[in-house]
Amino acid sequence: MTIDLHTHTAFSDGTDAPQAWAAAAVAAGVTTVAITDHDTTDGWAAAIAALPPELSLVRGAELSTHVTSGGRRFSIHLLAYLFDPADPALAAELARLRADRLQRGLAMVDKMVAAGLPISRQQVLDIADGAPVGRPHIGRALMAAGLVSSVTEAFATYLSGRGPYYVSKADTELPAAIDLVRRAGGVPVLAHPRSRGAASITDEAFFARCVAAGLLGVEVDHPDHDAAARADLRRLASRFGLIVTGSSDYHGRNKAVAIGQERTASAALAAIVAASSGMTAVVGPEAR
Ligand code: AMP
Ligand code: ZN
Repeated sequence: MTIDLHTHTAFSDGTDAPQAWAAAAVAAGVTTVAITDHDTTDGWAAAIAALPPELSLVRGAELSTHVTSGGRRFSIHLLAYLFDPADPALAAELARLRADRLQRGLAMVDKMVAAGLPISRQQVLDIADGAPVGRPHIGRALMAAGLVSSVTEAFATYLSGRGPYYVSKADTELPAAIDLVRRAGGVPVLAHPRSRGAASITDEAFFARCVAAGLLGVEVDHPDHDAAARADLRRLASRFGLIVTGSSDYHGRNKAVAIGQERTASAALAAIVAASSGMTAVVGPEAR
């Protein structure tokens, strides 16, 4: 089995519609794929409809969360698998995050327009096409304007968190997000905790607090993690009994990572399935 538990479609800030996304997974030899769009479950039905017979699907989402440390706010993402999408508290929180993503995206566009950059609100809304608005959508508008040649270049310049156009977005406090996912029967897994930004605070004491809040897993093998980060995260996972996952964080043409380039062991997926009670079993040949 080849399992990739973190991918984005055009239902958030990936570029692939579900058909192309499923085809990319199959072409890469992936046998089980998770859909983890930002702050939404809107792509689930289309992903199931697009699923070829040989591909299994784990329904999930990636939640925008934060922790405060030393008076500073750090953004950190939380993967959530196999939860009940109709859980009222979780659904309401995801709706709040999506509404804020729209306002924040428009606020970033307004700053760019005020500085004379030739993009517009309507252009970014058209690119997002109803998906929760993310910086990659603005990046594609900057590409269309000829200001950058890739979304990755846009992140290094106009979209940078330290740049003049950045606006922060609403997110959930991490322990509260973990609790919401557990109460919805889902399995919370910390996403790429050693990515730039949060790496300085995701130490052993941080993991102890997350585990106390109900965290069940950690994404260890991720394109942002070097060998030392992976080794340390494996140590922490073993120390706290966390499920270890590996995933590409595929975003289609928005990011230079290939679907299936990082993988999760089948025993880890089995542990996620066993820990879930969200009424959303794996779909496809690996259904259990
Ligand atoms: P936002 O959530 O709007 O702050 O935008 C950040 C998101 O963009 C993260 O989830 C990244 O994974 C995603 N992203 C997509 N493409 C890129 C890229 N080329 N460089 C950095 N982040 C990217
Ligand atoms: Zn992601």
